[in-house]
Amino acid sequence: MTEWIRCPIYHKKTRLQIRADTELKNFPLYCPKCRHESLIDAKNLWVTVIKEHVVKTQG
Ligand SMILES: [Zn+2]
Repeated sequence: MTEWIRCPIYHKKTRLQIRADTELKNFPLYCPKCRHESLIDAKNLWVTVIKEHVVKTQG
């Protein structure tokens, strides 16, 4: 079983999927729709947003 990770801002599907046994810690989730990164944790298909809309430095 896999689940799409959703954007914490717009709750649209991102391009990343997690499995039931996937564990993420401080994972930089990039949303192609609003073009931002958020830091997330994920465990047991439960995603916790640590920090939304992380500002990326250019270059
Ligand atoms: Zn987004």
